Amino acid sequence: MRKPFIAGNWKMYKTPKESLAFLDAFLPLVEGHTRDEIALFPTTTSLSAVIDGLHGSNVRGGAQNMHWLNEGPYTGQTSPTMLVSIGCRHVILGHSEQRLYFNETYERVNLKLKAAINHGITPIVCVGELLAEREDQKTEEVLRTQLRAALRNISPSEARRLIIAYEPIWAIGTGSTASPEIAAQAHAILRHELTHCCGEATADNTRILYGGSVKPENINELMAQEQIDGVLVGGASLVPTTFANIVQYT
Ligand code: PEP
Repeated sequence: MRKPFIAGNWKMYKTPKESLAFLDAFLPLVEGHTRDEIALFPTTTSLSAVIDGLHGSNVRGGAQNMHWLNEGPYTGQTSPTMLVSIGCRHVILGHSEQRLYFNETYERVNLKLKAAINHGITPIVCVGELLAEREDQKTEEVLRTQLRAALRNISPSEARRLIIAYEPIWAIGTGSTASPEIAAQAHAILRHELTHCCGEATADNTRILYGGSVKPENINELMAQEQIDGVLVGGASLVPTTFANIVQYT
């Protein structure tokens, strides 16, 4: 059984004060909700306040990125030990906005993934194709290549806690969601590749989330797909009632 995982990626939005105001409105709306795991990914300056504000609740807080080393002369970076020191146990890796605007590579994602595993941080590794790649019938090749590079030299037992997010770049922040069938097909490709990399047991247990313009209007049909084990939500996670509606899909 793969427990669904519903994640809100706040990108570069919300100060600590705004983040806590979100929690005040959101937590009562999802109180007692145990069907799904729920997690919020605020920006670095709000992360500590959010993790403290979530204490004792059914919602977790995670980081949007991290470096793979524990410390060093790397201006602007946050290390895994720093995340752990504030109680952070989840991290998003390889988000397409990191890849598109900050030259993130899957080689670095692989280093970050190993570091997350070594520090007991649950990684959500994002993969996804560009529109041009989909139009050139390259989706399968792109997804397999991205996943293989991210998982290089990771053993099946190390991949135990891994979460994958399929986020087609053409669907992120654009309002155009992948149809449930397109998403399910991509998830099947990823699970097949996971079986190849990490064995059947790990592939069966790994949650694969869909991300890309998820909203209350399309969550039910997405979650109805057997291959979809949850969602990574950007824009629609910024408003407490909207994100609560997503969490309460039927
Ligand atoms: C995201 O940021 O991962 C994302 C999927 O964004 P949006 O839901 O806004 O498309």
